[in-house]
Amino acid sequence: MADCISTVPELLRALDLAPGQLPPLLTDRMDFPLRVPRRLLARMQPGDPQDPLLLQVLPLTQEQQFHHGYSLDPVGDLAASRGHGLLHKYQGRALLIASGACAIHCRYCFRRHFPYQQQTLRQSQLDQAVAAVAGDPSLSEIILSGGDPLTLDAERLAALLQQLDALPHLQRLRIHSRVPVVIPERLDETLLGQLTALRMQTVLVIHVNHRNEIDDCLRQRLRDYQRYGITLLNQSVLLQGINDDARTLAELSLTLFECGVMPYYLHQLDRAQGCAHFEVDEPRSRAIYHQLLQQLPGYLVPRLVHEQVGRPYKQPLSPLPTP
Ligand SMILES: *Cc1c(COP(=O)(O)O)cnc(C)c1O
Ligand code: SF4
Repeated sequence: MADCISTVPELLRALDLAPGQLPPLLTDRMDFPLRVPRRLLARMQPGDPQDPLLLQVLPLTQEQQFHHGYSLDPVGDLAASRGHGLLHKYQGRALLIASGACAIHCRYCFRRHFPYQQQTLRQSQLDQAVAAVAGDPSLSEIILSGGDPLTLDAERLAALLQQLDALPHLQRLRIHSRVPVVIPERLDETLLGQLTALRMQTVLVIHVNHRNEIDDCLRQRLRDYQRYGITLLNQSVLLQGINDDARTLAELSLTLFECGVMPYYLHQLDRAQGCAHFEVDEPRSRAIYHQLLQQLPGYLVPRLVHEQVGRPYKQPLSPLPTP
């Protein structure tokens, strides 16, 4: 995780790009600092200012423009917080912010303003969160998210998994993580052994937006995990200039399937301040979705959804036929 680029000049040098080739960039005083793992850098095309991986991490001055309708907490996480890092919005499942750290900083992240310092779990808080889950028999699924739960060190994660597995009303464990994309080696045999030893069924939801994010190492690890019975899903965010066309999304789905991963969600962008330049407007999202449905077997089409505050599930968007 330490092997990453954290300044703009370093990033541009590494990719052989001159500032003049790019829109104006933020260079200092970033609340949400630059964090580009070298692993991902290696999958960017040097000299290409439009590279779909570069655009995901490039801090533009546009982030500082205020946009009406964009907020610091676009999906109502603060209201759903039950303290100790536990978010409970949907029936039967709760989300535990198991770590405030991420291995990469994605500029479009809807949690980029989330007060992780207050929500991130120290061991005592973690114990309280587990106690809250233990006291709520209506929960059948626990989701470890963040930040990124796979940034937790192995022992702490193992201990947490043990504690949760001991709660008889939990049937399923879900892990939401982007770490596999950046550090595929994190999907090692130790973690696989820990997951397959659980009584709960395990689902690993990775986050890939473009097929260039997937390298041979990740492909191999995912296949291994799938072979051992871990259900693998992917979620993506529909992003302007990155994956906002049906062909790119279809290629992503086909590549994921080769790795044993089923497409799950395609998210309409959550409106966090600083993210407006990534938005694909809703009619266009629905038109792209319409084209995607025509290009793939149904089981390889992710669900296009938008999270709306106060609704009991993520809202599906319907395809919009273009005339
Ligand atoms: C997205 C989310 C979930 C999971 O929703 P699914 O539709 O089951 O994938 C659960 N809790 C919270 C707080 C969420 O934001
Ligand atoms: S929470 Fe996910 S999307 Fe947000 S910065 Fe971390 S890895 Fe990226």
